[in-house]
Amino acid sequence: MQYVLWHKNPDTDSFCSAIVYTQYLRDQWEEAIAIALGKPNFETKYILERANISCPEVKTKLPEWAKIILMDHNEASQSIDNRERYIIKWVIDHHKVADFTTWYPLMMRLEPVGCTCTILAKIFQENDYIPSKEMAFLMVSAIISDSLYFRSPTTTEQDKKAVNILAPLAWITDIETYALEMFAAKSDLWDTPVEDIIRMDYKTFDFHGHFCAIAVSETTSPDYLLGRKEELLEAIEKVKASDGVEHLLFCVVDILKEQTTAIVLDDSLKIIVEKAFNTTVINHEADLWARVSRKKQIAPVLDKYFSQ
Ligand code: MG
Ligand code: MG
Ligand code: MG
Repeated sequence: MQYVLWHKNPDTDSFCSAIVYTQYLRDQWEEAIAIALGKPNFETKYILERANISCPEVKTKLPEWAKIILMDHNEASQSIDNRERYIIKWVIDHHKVADFTTWYPLMMRLEPVGCTCTILAKIFQENDYIPSKEMAFLMVSAIISDSLYFRSPTTTEQDKKAVNILAPLAWITDIETYALEMFAAKSDLWDTPVEDIIRMDYKTFDFHGHFCAIAVSETTSPDYLLGRKEELLEAIEKVKASDGVEHLLFCVVDILKEQTTAIVLDDSLKIIVEKAFNTTVINHEADLWARVSRKKQIAPVLDKYFSQ
């Protein structure tokens, strides 16, 4: 048995790429099962419902020496706990590589494209495999999500090409309308505890010995979130303490305006953010301007700051 895993605090791409790749392996007569390392966010839930696909079982532990396949991540901090107890067989990812060691030789497919599902689209094409309507639907959704419908600087021509090929298979005729529906579902955070919002898209990084977290909330209604700033500040403090991170930067990404506002808890982070991003922090808020990608535009800035 092979266990196909997504990353912690899973986003739409990790969910969809793991489900789709599991289906692909099964269609090749391989034994595979997708394991959820966390519950789907609102956007993912909406997509799974529309595709009529049930969420895989949430598990945080597997049999010892189980064969695992990592989708949409490679860093240990984002992976299943105690990863060294398992055998990594495959990695399919579009992130930078860090702290990666294995017991045995393995297969890796890493490409600097906008979405793991774009890599899957290429693998399928190379193998003359046509995904089902439901799987194509998940793939299109993931590419729209990760690329913020081609607005993010992580977007490549290959992502657009994959959507053009997959959308007809998924029976999606109006991609723009569908993208807006997805973003609306994602922004519907009404009644959600702020701690859950912070943890929804939360990643930790080791910036030259500084263990930090960057949480992101991509939304079409940033004013709603910024209106809950007091609650957010309290929750940031709590999450920071419970996870033992030195700093936690919470970024509210306005998908439509392509602009990010970061919430800055305290003076020590204020100094860092002002210097690193060349901005001013007013009332715990910092304009990070048109930086909408944590991977390409936010994390690297902090990484560089701490390297000096
Ligand atoms: Mg991801
Ligand atoms: Mg991704
Ligand atoms: Mg993302």
